Amino acid sequence: MSEIFNVLLIEDNPGDARLLQEMLAEEPVAPFRLHCADRLSRGMEMLSAGKVELLLLDLSLPDSHGLETFAKVYAHSPKVPIIVLTGNDDRALALSAVKAGAQDYLFKGSLERELLVRSMQYSIERKRYQEELEHHANYDALTGLPNRNLLHDRLKQAVFAQRNVHPVAVVFLDLDHFKIINEGLGHSQGDKLLATIAERLHATVRDGDTVARLGGDEFVLILNDQTKEDVIFRAMQRILGKVSEPMTIGDQELCITCSAGVSIYPQDGADVDTLLKNADAAMYRAKERGRNTFQFYTSEMNALVNERLALEHSLRRALERNELLLHYQPKVELATGRIVGAEALVRWQHPQWGLVFPDRFIPIAEETGLIVPIGEWVLRQACMQNRTWHDAGLAPVTVSVNVSARQFTQENFVNTVRQILSETGLNPRHLEMELTESMVMHDVEAAIAILQGLKSLGVRLSVDDFGTGHSSLSYLRRLPIDTLKIDKSFVNRIGAKNDGDDGLLAQAIISLGHTLKLRVVAEGVETEAQLKFLTAHRCDEVQGYYFSKPIPAAEYASMLGSADVSNKPSLSILTQPLSFPVSTDL
Ligand code: C2E
Ligand code: MG
Ligand code: MG
Repeated sequence: MSEIFNVLLIEDNPGDARLLQEMLAEEPVAPFRLHCADRLSRGMEMLSAGKVELLLLDLSLPDSHGLETFAKVYAHSPKVPIIVLTGNDDRALALSAVKAGAQDYLFKGSLERELLVRSMQYSIERKRYQEELEHHANYDALTGLPNRNLLHDRLKQAVFAQRNVHPVAVVFLDLDHFKIINEGLGHSQGDKLLATIAERLHATVRDGDTVARLGGDEFVLILNDQTKEDVIFRAMQRILGKVSEPMTIGDQELCITCSAGVSIYPQDGADVDTLLKNADAAMYRAKERGRNTFQFYTSEMNALVNERLALEHSLRRALERNELLLHYQPKVELATGRIVGAEALVRWQHPQWGLVFPDRFIPIAEETGLIVPIGEWVLRQACMQNRTWHDAGLAPVTVSVNVSARQFTQENFVNTVRQILSETGLNPRHLEMELTESMVMHDVEAAIAILQGLKSLGVRLSVDDFGTGHSSLSYLRRLPIDTLKIDKSFVNRIGAKNDGDDGLLAQAIISLGHTLKLRVVAEGVETEAQLKFLTAHRCDEVQGYYFSKPIPAAEYASMLGSADVSNKPSLSILTQPLSFPVSTDL
């Protein structure tokens, strides 16, 4: 062992000091360099100078006595291992010191060299180990940042150690779509991403501020002494800007954004838990407002959070209690005027709240992962239903099912679909899966592999809400897809004269789709003008309130089966091939 330890002996009795010195000098391999002080004040000065790695402390000194001596030294230098030295009759005192944090004790009357050396070595090792454990308990292994434990301590300190009230800002920060990115990148790259974010956050705050990681992609910042909201505002802009700078992980360049909520002591909470809870609530608001933004806490947010929690809670039971159901919205083929398919849209029949629409619960299902079992249920239900219609002799239709990103990246997704198809015996041709651009464009190579897997089952694939994401055309060409679904916002603009677009984009998507040999479906068709325009531009299928809202399965079946739908004026168009004149100046 080449390490030399600096040992400080605080001992007022010169005889005892000399004895110890001699014992250590005799020890040929003892790696200790002894420094002496004859009173506490002098000893503390030497401790302040640092470099003391072990302390031998006589508890009765001219300027301090008993346990108080230990307490003072320990408070001053909590990281230095301490062995207390007492008289033989002071066992109780010695034990109290050990309980208070001393590593060991020695009785001065019965000191032996071997015992002394062993105690010294043991105390140093033990303290090291304790420190390691403590570090473990207080710091996050991945990023080296304080963890939840230490965050609580620090926040308590920041709030309660104040003589006068200084505002403290608590920032709850969560990365946007991290789960998807993490699954796309692989977890070890995901870890690198988190470590990079941790460094960036650490670099943007001031000394004395705290950046902690709560776990996953959640971070909390404590910004001390932030008196003005506009100062915090600018700090937050800086932090969000820094996080979203491009980074290179492995050989990929990528950007990730974050959403953050801010609560301020004292106005938004008097204790640590409330401050954290309220910053979390504000963060949720920031997510709802479209992410990559931050939000200050306001008291109304509690109501929103409570509602969300209640929703999440009962959503967990919705499947078991059989509260989900599907509505079907007809798709009409423009060339023939026939119903050729339907989109299956999930609904939640809640015992108290009534019929809940997917916009309210799908985002929560995505965040909590509940979307996976829910999506599987939807898929099975839709296939079963379609098979039933088929068996009843109705004209064959293709049912489309929406697939969420979480489902799509599940390892065994393709197998799940295969399994459900074989269980239900549905011809795969009659199942279509609607995916969104962002799911595919995030990691194109991985997506193509999954899409090919699905394609090999024989199902149809469609890109939903097309035009709202950032598809790259060169990739689009490589995807084994069958259909583009023009987002309803583009259909909406048809006939909206002052919009400046007036269907141009819808038209462009149709011709793009046809160039790529894809079928093009327009959704959200509400007016006759829109229908005419889409017909004129050779859109293949339409779906929208103009024909029908999403309806229960039985209603859809009777619509499919009945030749006479003329009692529904908007559906009259379905009974015969389209016959209205298509004007060329649309
Ligand atoms: P989406 O896939 O784009 O579905 C079309 C949405 O537009 C449906 O809303 C439909 O009712 C609505 N819609 C249809 N025709 C019209 C129209 O003429 N005008 C207007 N303004 N809207 C129309 P819905 O049923 O509320 O579903 C909303 C979204 O929820 C869906 O958008 C889809 O992204 C998601 N979703 C629905 N069911 C499922 C599901 O089973 N799984 C997953 N992952 N997501 C689903
Ligand atoms: Mg859809
Ligand atoms: Mg859509």
